[in-house]
This record gives sequence, structure tokens and C-alpha cells, in this order.
Amino acid sequence: MTRTISRFTLEGVREADVSVHPFGTEDGLGLNLTRFLRSESDDVVLLVHGLTSASDVFIMPEHRNLASHLLDNGFGDVWAVDFRMSGRFPYDGETHRYNLDDVALYDFPATMRELRRHVGDRRVHVIAHCLGAVSFSMSLFAGLIDDVASLTCNSVSLTPRVPAFSKLKLSLGTWLLEYVVGLPFIDPRFGQAPAFTRPWMLSQAVSLFHDECRTSACHMQSFQWGAGRPAMYEHSNLLPETHARVADICSASGLNYYRHVRKMVEAGQSVKYAPTDARYARLPLNYLSNAADVRTPLLLLAPDRNRVFTDSNIHLHKILEKAAPGRHELAVLPGYGHLDPLIGKNSYIDVFPRIVDFLKRHSA
Ligand SMILES: [Zn+2]
Repeated sequence: MTRTISRFTLEGVREADVSVHPFGTEDGLGLNLTRFLRSESDDVVLLVHGLTSASDVFIMPEHRNLASHLLDNGFGDVWAVDFRMSGRFPYDGETHRYNLDDVALYDFPATMRELRRHVGDRRVHVIAHCLGAVSFSMSLFAGLIDDVASLTCNSVSLTPRVPAFSKLKLSLGTWLLEYVVGLPFIDPRFGQAPAFTRPWMLSQAVSLFHDECRTSACHMQSFQWGAGRPAMYEHSNLLPETHARVADICSASGLNYYRHVRKMVEAGQSVKYAPTDARYARLPLNYLSNAADVRTPLLLLAPDRNRVFTDSNIHLHKILEKAAPGRHELAVLPGYGHLDPLIGKNSYIDVFPRIVDFLKRHSA
């Protein structure tokens, strides 16, 4: 792949002092916060990526990105975390047994501790995507984090729901891939593997079912996530430069997270991966039973062409509305899929203003 945009570039955010803040988790992983500071602000924003994207989805140089949009709209102190699901770290391309409980228990409480060291007791608003949104919501509803002024979740939160085809992939697919094909993770770059190796053959087989474009990494993304051609986004919402580098934006993903998502889909809400494992005793068995006690208002973004987590956020909003009427908000995003609300060429017109409006109403 010939790159016109550098991988992991920070050049998409202009007129801000950029600093990096490494920190560690209780279970021994090194993570990172990146700060984009234009002006001291009473309201700080923390951006949380999904699996296996990275802070990159918020700072891409080829379109008007969310971090820049926030800086331009009065939120002068924006932070983006890279946690264990990040494509900027090797963790998810290695053989591992991490699940979303590890993220909720270790990554986000440590993120907030590091953030608070720098911003003190100023209001912190969180904008989270995909499994980052699921696991951050778990930290919040478990009471491991309680100092968040608002939480915006794109695509999904505490009630993951997926298309029927995804259910099949989540159950049979993970087993087949790991035990029969012998691959512990799926990589959108499998199409670049040497001919006739197992990764290459898998990519070729997947592309047989995708005639919507000629980018094998895009086909593999659809195989990794959801049910559709393509599954992750509407092609028409992306710039050609973004589509050409989808493997840089969302990289290899480990299979164990899929196993945990399957358990949640079966249960209809976030549940523990291993309910009897003492390591996770600080997490609840039911995240929604005390939903009325969670004072942080949520903005649930629900793209209406979501072929990864379908109507998850619409469903959750109904549940939360019963628990705490009027506290949380739902925003249906017409014409958008799972990821394009963040990486779309017109997101700064169609999506970001809705988020800024919510944040401003929960600011000073
Ligand atoms: Zn494509």
C-alpha cells in the first residue's frame, strides 16, 4: 500500500500544543493519553476509540476531524486515549485473552486518574465509540468512574445488539478461525499476505462475497464487523483517501473480544465474561439494575444504517428513559453507518454539531 497520509500522524489537529502522557494500568499494560491544548477551558473532553481503531479516528488530517471541531467550538482542551484495544499498540495483534471487563476495570479508571492529574477537578466530557463506548459505560455504571459531566456513545453502549449474520459469525466464526484455520486474530491486511498462505486465502474467500469495491481491506473490515457490503460505513460518506487507508484506521482485532460480545448479545446487555472469576468482583452482574443512580447524562448516537450494532442505542435509550426520564438523549443519525459518524467527510456538518450542542448544555 502506497501511503499519502502517514500512519499515526498528529498533523490533523492544527493550532494546538500536542503532548503525550503515558500511564500504566493495574494489570501492567502501558497506555497513552494525547492532549491537544489550544486554551485552558473549564470543560475538558476525552475521546475514546473502539476496537481496533485508535485515537486516529478523531484526528484524521484528510477531513475536518472531531478533535479540531471541538477546539474550534470553545472546547480548548481535548484529550484522546489509546487503551488496550488501540491499533497503536501491539496488544490486540498478539495472542491474548483480554475481554471488555479488563478494559472497564483497568483501562478507564487509570485513564481518568492520569487525566485528573493534569486537569484537576474541571468538568470532563467523554465521547466514546464502539466497544470503547461499551466498556467506558461499564466503568461508569459500575461506579468505578463517577466524575464525568457527560458521556456520548456512538453506535452502542450497554445493550449490544447485532444483525443475525453477525450472531452466526460471533459463535461459529470465532471457533472456526481459532481452532480450524489457526488464526488468533483477524487482520484487514490479510490480502497482502504471501499467496496461498491461510491469511491470504481467507482474504480471497471474503472478497468473493464483496463486489462493492476493489479494496480487500474494506472487505475484511466487513468480515470482521457486522453484516453488509460494506458493513462499517456508507461508502458515499467517506473520502477516497479514507477508504484507501481503512487498514491504517482499523487494524487487526483479537478474537476473544468477539467472544465477550457474543455473551452480551445473548444476554441482551453487558455481562461479565467470567462471572465467577474473583478478579472481576468489582464489576456488577447487572449494569442496568441501578441505572437510575447514574447521574451522568448520556447522548446516544444511533446511526440509522448501523450494520454492526443495529438499533442498540435506540433500545438502550428506551430502558434508560424508564429508569431516569428525561436525563439521557437519543440522536438518530440519518444516512450514517457504524463508524462514519466519526470518519465521514461531512460528519462536521451532520454529526459533530449535535455532540457540541449536548456538551454545551452540560457545561458552565
Ligand atoms: Zn470499500
